[in-house]
Amino acid sequence: MIRIEDVIEKVENNRPNSNIELIRRAYMFSALHHRGQKRASGEPYLVHPIAVADILAEMRLDEVSVSTGLLHDVVEDTLVDLDTIKEYFGEEITTLVDGLTKIAHISNLSKEKQQAENVRKMVLAMITDVRVVLIKLADRLHNMRTMQFLKPEKRARISRETLDIYAPIAHRLGMGKLRSELEDLSFRNLHPQEYSKLSIEVEARRPELEATLEIIKKTISDQLRENDVPFVAIEGRVKRLFSLWKKLKKRKLTIDQVYDLIAARVITTNEKKNCYLALSVIHDIWTPVPERFKDWIAIPRDNLYQSLHTSVIGDKGQAFEVQIRTEEMHQIAEEGVAAHWKYKESKLGANEEDESLDELRKTVEKLLLPLVENTNESQDSEDFIESLKLDLYPKDVYTFTPMGKVIQLPRGATPIDFAYAIHSEVGDTCTGAKINGRIVQLKTELQNGDVVEILTTSNSTPSRDWLNYVITSRARNRIRHFISEQQRTESIDIGRKLLEKEADKFGISPKKLINNDSEMKRIANEYGLGRPEDLLASVGYGKTLPRNVVAKFLGPEKFNELDPEKKKETKLQSGVKAVKKFIGMGEDAIIVKGVDNLLTTRARCCNPLRGEPIIGYISLGKGIVVHNKRCKNVKSLMVNKDRIVDVDWAKSEKEEIQSVRLLATTENRTGMLAGITNAIAEIKTGIRDARAMVSKDDRGLIEITIEVFDKKHLDKVIGSVERVPGVIAVERVNS
Ligand code: MN
Repeated sequence: MIRIEDVIEKVENNRPNSNIELIRRAYMFSALHHRGQKRASGEPYLVHPIAVADILAEMRLDEVSVSTGLLHDVVEDTLVDLDTIKEYFGEEITTLVDGLTKIAHISNLSKEKQQAENVRKMVLAMITDVRVVLIKLADRLHNMRTMQFLKPEKRARISRETLDIYAPIAHRLGMGKLRSELEDLSFRNLHPQEYSKLSIEVEARRPELEATLEIIKKTISDQLRENDVPFVAIEGRVKRLFSLWKKLKKRKLTIDQVYDLIAARVITTNEKKNCYLALSVIHDIWTPVPERFKDWIAIPRDNLYQSLHTSVIGDKGQAFEVQIRTEEMHQIAEEGVAAHWKYKESKLGANEEDESLDELRKTVEKLLLPLVENTNESQDSEDFIESLKLDLYPKDVYTFTPMGKVIQLPRGATPIDFAYAIHSEVGDTCTGAKINGRIVQLKTELQNGDVVEILTTSNSTPSRDWLNYVITSRARNRIRHFISEQQRTESIDIGRKLLEKEADKFGISPKKLINNDSEMKRIANEYGLGRPEDLLASVGYGKTLPRNVVAKFLGPEKFNELDPEKKKETKLQSGVKAVKKFIGMGEDAIIVKGVDNLLTTRARCCNPLRGEPIIGYISLGKGIVVHNKRCKNVKSLMVNKDRIVDVDWAKSEKEEIQSVRLLATTENRTGMLAGITNAIAEIKTGIRDARAMVSKDDRGLIEITIEVFDKKHLDKVIGSVERVPGVIAVERVNS
């Protein structure tokens, strides 16, 4: 078992100026909160965070990473929350722990195999700091090393995930050693039978393979010495089980058909030219297989891997691979990004269509830059930490359905985009959303890793407002389509009512005009429109005047004869009446309150109250919007006089209750709110909401929402509030 002192010793050796106190505090905190918890092995849970911290210390990471390693499961597995972490350990560690906790959630969600690539991308996208991924990899490595105590199904699931997600990430970061270990452990737990079968096959051949390797190694080292090529080590290895297994499966080979079962590696001193010298020596000893030569030194891989690879035909006619690299290249091949913390120089190459890899390369490049530029290693400034930030997929966010399906959306997308991404039906009937279990507004911007649940109501429809929040064209098109359909239906409806009324004034029965298809069609054609509904829609939109339609129906002579306006014209005086005449509505008013099912809405700007003078405006998509005549917006609406209609309050059998907000300014003293609510209650008026505030000039402000029937009722309430002692003024406010 690793002790915290072992970890601290490593950090002190690697980074002499580290804040050891921080690590000790993280250790104490972790020990306190994981107290009593046990691993599947029965050991105290604390063993795990210490082991993770130890792996991180091995990687020569900083004290912040090591401390985070100690704390990485505290939020996930204990009652401690992020705020507490922040309080004790500050912003930086909190961000890292948060990243790790989020990744833990993703792991729990991703059940579908084919989601692996998405999840991998998402894991990367969520990593705002390269240290998060290093800590996560260390966490996973320790779990993989100690998974023998878990049930087989759980072992298989975790192994699958490791192969799909974490081994590729390790590969991208150039961490060859860690990747190999993760892969072999996964293979062993995922396919235990195939693993042991292959392992037996390899072990049977091992003595012979090792013997061959010894001869190869000796031959190479002798020849290198003879040719004065400086080298650090010659290594020989038998191919790893996982990569051997993959190869056998892919190429349908037997183990004896694999030419690169063994490989040798030459590690030269830190000069590139020694690699090429060694290569020529090796090609002198054995015949190379021409197409197998790869120069990853001249053109490094995107994960910065550098090496020469050559395959040669051995003495017994058996081919094997030789890798040649400098000591530094070797370190980078084994440790990847982590090695860059140590090395001061490396060459970068670029040729990759995969944007993500390119991004990663740039990040690694960024990683290297401060080290290349600063010869003084102690200059581990904030800039350096800043340079560790990753943004691998800046354009997208990866979100989940509650079932764990990944929905990839452009950054800035909202739950509405999400809903339409699932299905247009879901989008159309969307009425709300939960993100990570919490109800949110539909305009909330989605973040990486959010689990989004869309709430729908079967008869609900899209809202025009949504166009302001959606950013995917799929959602936008669908909403637009819906609105135009809806507008058309409403316009036809409005057009029909308007035309009916107009025809009625001329004494024309519906049978003769509106319900007479051929006549309607004829008139529609005169307007260049196809069908009767198009004509009605045009009337409803305010484009075509119903009066003109009637004129076309009757013909000029008969129209003039029957025109009721002609008869009244002399009496007209007021401006409003002139408008009436213009639109041909006469004294007939559309009655507000759903008479004839005509769609009317009260304008939000002025929220007219029964009894107040009102005016109607044909608004596209909303039917007739009713404003208070004194509303400041009416003036600008008058520009489109065609769309103004007269409206009036219908007599209602049942009184309708409406909410109105009042603002009372009072003296700043206690009991004001009670005084006012009492006064309102006394005249039997409902109070929906009331709150008291104090204004900047030390006055009391009481906002109160009441329920009234009409203007008369409202006036009465205002009057009685005004009479409450201490009240200075009362006004009606609009929401
Ligand atoms: Mn863990």
